[in-house]
Amino acid sequence: MKVAIVNIGEIVTGNWREPFAGGGAIVVDGERIASVGSASADAVNAADVVIDADGMTAIPGLIDSHVHITFGDYTPRQRTVGYLESYLHGGTTTAISASEVHVPGRPRDVEGVKALAVAAQRCFADWRPGGMKVIAGSVILEPGLQRKDFDELKQKGVRLAKAGFGAVKSSFDYVPLVADAKAAGLTTTCHTGGSSIPGSGAITGDHLLKMHPHVSFHINGGPTAMPDADFERVIAESEIALQVCTAGNLRTTLLCARLAQARGAFDRFIIATDTPTGSGIMPLGMLYTIAHLASLTDMPPEQFICAATGNNAKVYGLDSGYLAPGKAADIVLLDAPDGGTQQTALAAIKHGDIAAIGGVITAGVPRFVGRSRNTPATTRKARVTASRVTQDFSAAAH
Ligand SMILES: [Zn+2]
Repeated sequence: MKVAIVNIGEIVTGNWREPFAGGGAIVVDGERIASVGSASADAVNAADVVIDADGMTAIPGLIDSHVHITFGDYTPRQRTVGYLESYLHGGTTTAISASEVHVPGRPRDVEGVKALAVAAQRCFADWRPGGMKVIAGSVILEPGLQRKDFDELKQKGVRLAKAGFGAVKSSFDYVPLVADAKAAGLTTTCHTGGSSIPGSGAITGDHLLKMHPHVSFHINGGPTAMPDADFERVIAESEIALQVCTAGNLRTTLLCARLAQARGAFDRFIIATDTPTGSGIMPLGMLYTIAHLASLTDMPPEQFICAATGNNAKVYGLDSGYLAPGKAADIVLLDAPDGGTQQTALAAIKHGDIAAIGGVITAGVPRFVGRSRNTPATTRKARVTASRVTQDFSAAAH
């Protein structure tokens, strides 16, 4: 299927160093972006679906790099179904598992945690709830896991490992486990801050610097923050990605953003939600954190959209996160919310408002065009102005 989006007001690329693309059109061919900027009349005429963005802002689909995936579109912690599909209506087009720790009665032995990671990876490999790309299967690091186990997991398609919920005596016991997981080619992640479940200890700068995982999960606290002085150390003494989460400490989120900017470390500043958790289900969590950061710092809103898209894609090695030819066709249309004081999506975000969503496309398929069921209404009206897609309405969208 070919999709053309025309009459776009602004295009945010996902690359914070070059956050804007010129022109006002995006053409999608199959699951990939074919062109960004301008589109010839021929290209628009050849499209199966034409969407008129009415001057809205196009951004890459948001990538939430901290979602508590289990199985299906279900969160046992909040006993709710359909949350992933709801997050898509908040502009999140990719959810990355923070490990399947919420699976009731989750295994803690070596064979059990391996099987859990493989099963989770498989269950989402070809299934997109509501259109959401879910990267699941993050092996929970438990004592006893060895290099050969990580090699086996990697060979079976698992790409993530998580430190912080294992039955270790000291958090320093994760050091060899993280090293083996990294050596096997897994992307390693680590809980940061105060303990979030009974029995897990605090993880602070000393632990992170010894472990050196790829990503410090909720470096701003999940939900309890580590000492302020440790942010500076982690930024200066490591290459660890700095993930800030909605369900954490807002003051240290701002502290971390300002430090990352001042110390030239913004490439590794990434935004996520850390939900569903005890903090709830937050379909608009990514938009809230982007608005908090943009409105409470002197940095521009597009920079934080890029932290929620391209930066996450780079850290996790994804083919999405950017509006550029060849990238995955995951696109969100944003606008100033109806009834607000601002004229554009970016101005509204800078003002501290939640942007309104007027359309979401994932894998080249328009999942909805018009009204998100979670954000406020848009000021402008995005519409499908041409479609020659035959539909039989017999299968549920996925
Ligand atoms: Zn978490």
